Amino acid sequence: ASIDKDTACAAGTAAAAPRVAPVRIDIEQLTLSFGETTVLKGIDLSIEPGEFFAFLGPSGSGKTTLLRAIAGFGPTPRGRILIDGADIAGRMPWQRDVGMVFQSYALWPHLNVARNVAYGLEERRVARPEIKARVHAALELVGMADYALRYPSQLSGGQQQRIALARTIAVEPRVLLLDEPLSNLDAGLRVQMRQELLQLQRRLGITTIFVTHDQEEANTICDRIAVLSAGVVQQVGRPADVYDNPVNEFVARFLGTAN
Ligand code: ADP
Repeated sequence: ASIDKDTACAAGTAAAAPRVAPVRIDIEQLTLSFGETTVLKGIDLSIEPGEFFAFLGPSGSGKTTLLRAIAGFGPTPRGRILIDGADIAGRMPWQRDVGMVFQSYALWPHLNVARNVAYGLEERRVARPEIKARVHAALELVGMADYALRYPSQLSGGQQQRIALARTIAVEPRVLLLDEPLSNLDAGLRVQMRQELLQLQRRLGITTIFVTHDQEEANTICDRIAVLSAGVVQQVGRPADVYDNPVNEFVARFLGTAN
């Protein structure tokens, strides 16, 4: 089940050319504890500009904690998080220019789709005409321009997730963080949404990190994966390379390539 990434990319429309130059992320010796328990243990990772990168590992391996640390949520870690060389580890979440999409879409139930997507822009005091244009462009990008006046309760799970994506894209973050964004969808829709996510990422060219415990999901859409276990990066590489040459027993077992 592999996707031709170039074909998927070319299939997208030319709506809303990216305005944000892709950034590089360097994570250096990142260590994070909840009280006495250390859950990230000296993470070193570099993510290239425009890369679609996955944190892949079993439940409890620290994927979400690492993603949240990049977004600025949770306990303050030790170590450095560099975006294009600037350390953001001391910045508040809203000063980091990263957008995060959660497993549960967390849309405002009392606001229609357009207002949900506009919310972050209103908070940033973006001018009205600009908000209108950006909301429309973001909804176009996720194929939901006709749903601007609907309410979240009138949408399917997949549609709600598209709106959550549009809301995040609308603020034009430098980095897109996706925390198991497809896990609440049924199996068929999940496969379709993978394709949509890949097309969207390619069209925007935004550096993206995708958290998943599902290796097939990571392998089909991501340029490279980091396999995590117990707060340690076990291996980083292109999915096929990691699959063909697991560096240790854990990776081999997790990917199901052990004999
Ligand atoms: P994953 O995303 O890979 O499933 P998490 O990052 O959610 O893993 O969790 C990593 C470890 O950190 C787990 O052992 C989890 O129990 C622990 N953990 C996560 N959040 C908290 C928290 N708020 N307080 C205490 N421990 C936590």
